[in-house]
This record gives sequence, structure tokens and C-alpha cells, in this order.
Amino acid sequence: MHAYEARIKWLNSIDIKDGQFVLYWMQASHRTVNNLALEYAISKANSLNKPVVAFFGLKKDFTDANLRHYNFMFEGLSEVEESLKDFGIKLVVWDKSPEIGAAELSKNSCFAVVDKGYLRLQKQWYTYAATQMRCPLVQIEDNVVVPVAEASLKEEYSAATIRPKIEKKQQTFPVIYRSIKPNRQSLDLKVDSLSLKNLDQILSNIESAKFDRLAKTFTGGTSIAIKRLERFIKDQLPNYKEQRNDPSAFGTSDMSPYLHFGQISPLQIFQYVTMASAPISQKEAFLEELIIRRELAINYVNYNNSYDSFSGLPNWAKTTLVAHQNDPRDYIYDLEILENGQTHDIYWNAAQNEMRLTGKMHGYMRMYWGKKIIEWTKTPHDAFRIALYLNNKYELDGRDPNGYAGVAWCFGKHDRPWGNRPIFGMVRYMNSAGLQRKFDIDSYVEKIKRL
Ligand code: FAD
Repeated sequence: MHAYEARIKWLNSIDIKDGQFVLYWMQASHRTVNNLALEYAISKANSLNKPVVAFFGLKKDFTDANLRHYNFMFEGLSEVEESLKDFGIKLVVWDKSPEIGAAELSKNSCFAVVDKGYLRLQKQWYTYAATQMRCPLVQIEDNVVVPVAEASLKEEYSAATIRPKIEKKQQTFPVIYRSIKPNRQSLDLKVDSLSLKNLDQILSNIESAKFDRLAKTFTGGTSIAIKRLERFIKDQLPNYKEQRNDPSAFGTSDMSPYLHFGQISPLQIFQYVTMASAPISQKEAFLEELIIRRELAINYVNYNNSYDSFSGLPNWAKTTLVAHQNDPRDYIYDLEILENGQTHDIYWNAAQNEMRLTGKMHGYMRMYWGKKIIEWTKTPHDAFRIALYLNNKYELDGRDPNGYAGVAWCFGKHDRPWGNRPIFGMVRYMNSAGLQRKFDIDSYVEKIKRL
């Protein structure tokens, strides 16, 4: 018998009433509000007359994650712990890789539910857990508006090709959340857990959190995310279309760090924005970014296993960039000069400093920033590696499908060929004259200097 069939047979044969609790493995959705996976775990537990236990596994050597990321994440998890307590649900945090901890806890569970992320490592965790867990495991996809495989079964070429597919399916997946409470409590359950009360102590045990500095502009947590969203809807959404690209304005939502850690649901943002009184054209412009662009990025990492390397780029882009890799460059900078924002270009340096100091670079500057790294490094391969490294190290929203797609976009992904030119070949080029023409870019530089 095939191993898969044997497993299904075994799963069907076990009496799921045997375990002590229903396990909710909180992996990608660090929230209790609008969390479909948690909701499903509670309803399953109620139907089995069992309590729910939530679990979070702390991976201390997450590639490129450092102090700013762990700190933001734990601010969010502390809030999660409190609000789960209000539900009578115990949060178990173990200093163990998530898939190992989930498999261990499954020995006492009758049923397990996990939420969903799309990166390679996350998929490896789910696969490992699915084969090792001692109870059925169900995955609920609630960090997208349209489930990825429902929108498309293949890697999409561009926003133009995925847009009609998402729009067609959007009505099929309405935003309906139920607020259900567990019938039985798990707070008294005797399971060890790290205490989230002492963040400093947890952080001091994470080697990579000793590097880098805090990015103090953002505090993690669902309640802060919702407050920011409400303020955005009131103050910025009415002019989003005109202001979102302007680095000197405060025109965007700042939702990306919260979305990255699953501290807010994209469905909740979608719902709030849809119900807002702002003009329809403004709401459409925002939803194009939140849904089409974001879910195009998720489509990319889901279907392209080389999403984090130069080889994942479209063939036309790789060919044209390689054909121009020996073109003379006016400037060549090494990683250190780039990382410290010490180039000849004050706009680029300001963007790099914004990212280093606040943990979030303005969206328009990210495009300019990535394009210039191509222009100022020896080869496009070096450029790709450096851009991704810096993005993931300093952006609070880094290591996200959007980051991989955003960096790849600078190298031609999800774009089309343009006119041929030195270094870039047919990949789209950007220059500082564009920044000066379109925006009050000097006031952006001043704003960053004041940081
Ligand atoms: P808003 O304009 O308020 O948009 C709302 C939401 O829509 C965002 O939070 C985001 O989820 C989504 N969105 C907006 N713009 C894009 C876009 N171009 N592509 C996909 N989704 C989008 N985004 C990240 O989340 N993490 C990254 O690491 C990241 N790195 C990038 C690197 C480069 C080189 C480039 C060009 C783009 C990158 N982006 C990244 C995409 C985009 O710049 C950010 O999502 C956006 O600036 C976040 O700010 P905001 O939440 O205020 O955006």
C-alpha cells in the first residue's frame, strides 16, 4: 500500500476523542481577531467537548531575523497570550522549531489545526508535521483574500494575468467571521511554556537578536495594527491614489509589518476599507495593492521554488542582464558602503537610512533603491544577493513573499521588457531626475535626517 494511503487509513481509524485537547498551532497568523484557523479549532473542540491549546514554536535561528523582528513579533505574541487567556485558552510557547513542537504536542491532542504561510521553510514545517503528528492536522488558509490555488494553479506572469482570476473568485470567499468561545478552558493544563512576561530575557537567549538595533517606530500587536488602520482610513485613504507614491508624504497604511507577522488579517483590512466612506477610486487603488499585488507576490513564492535567487527571474530578464554585466559602471560599491548609506546619492542614502532606522522604507523608494543596487554592483547576481540581504535584514516586513517579489521586480519580474540600455539591458530603469520631477524629494531627505 502507498505510504499516503496507509496514513489516510490510519487517520480514519483513530478515535479522535482520545486526545486531551484540540491543538491550534499558531504559525503564520499571530492574532486572535479574525483568525479563521483559531475559529475552526474552537468549533471543532466544542463539537468534541474538548478544550483548545494554542502552540507557538520559537525558531531562534530564523534566517536574516534579528532583534527588530523578534521584538516586534513578541510584542504581538504577548497581546495574543492575553487575549487567548480571556478566551480560557492556554498559549504554550516552546523554545523549539515549530514543526517539532507541534508534533510533540500532537501526542496528547485529538485534532490539530494550523494556519498557512507560503515560504519554502514554512512548507517544509507543514509537511514534516503532517507526516509526524499523532492526530489529524487540518490547514486553514486565512492570510489571503482568495486562497492561492483557487486563484491560479500556476505561476502568473503579471498583475494583468492574475487580476481577472482573483476578481472572479473574490465573491466566492466572503469575509465572514464568527466570534465563538470555547466551551471548555485549558488554562489549568499542566504543560510547560516560556513566559512572555519577560521579553528582555527571551531576547537575550536569541543569538541573532544580539545583532542590529531596535526599529522603534513600530510597535507590534493586533490592537496597534487596527488603530493604525483606522487612522489610515480616516486621514490617508481619501487621497491614497495621489499620495501613496510620494516619499515626502505620509500617504500609505503601514500595514505591511503587521501583515507579515499575521498580526492583522488582510480580510479584515479589506472589510474595513470596503465599508469606508472614501471615494471608490481611492478604495480601488488601495485594494489593488492589498489584494492583487500582494497575492501576485504570494503566487510567485508558492509556485517558483527559486523565488529567492537570481535564477528565479524570467528568462528574458536574466538573459538581458547577463548580456550587460560587463558594461562599465560609474560607481561600484561594496556591501559595507551600501549598508551604511554612504554612496554619492543623497536620495538613495536617505532611503537606506530610513530602512535601517525605522524598519520600513517608503514603497516608492524601495523601487529606486533596488534599481540603483543593480547599477552600482559588479554583476546582477551580486546585486540580487545584496538587495535581498539588506531588505530582509532591515525591513520589519522583510522575509515576506512581497519582499521576494519586490526585489525580483527590480530585476524584471512581473514587468515587461523596455528599451535596451547599458547595465540594465531591457529591464526597466529609474533615475533621480524622476524623483526630483515628481516629488518634493529634498523634504524626504530632510525628514530622514531628522530621524
Ligand atoms: P500600502 O501602500 O498602504 O499598501 C497596503 C498593502 O498592500 C501593503 O501593506 C502590502 O501588503 C500591499 N502592497 C503594497 N504595495 C505592494 C507591492 N508593490 N507589492 C506587493 N504588495 C504590496 N513589501 C513587504 O511587505 N515586504 C517587503 O520586504 C517588501 N520589500 C520590497 C522590496 C522592493 C525592492 C520593492 C520594490 C517592494 C517591496 N515591498 C515589500 C512591497 C511594497 O513596497 C510594500 O509592501 C509597501 O511599501 C508597504 O507599505 P504599506 O503597508 O504602507 O503599503
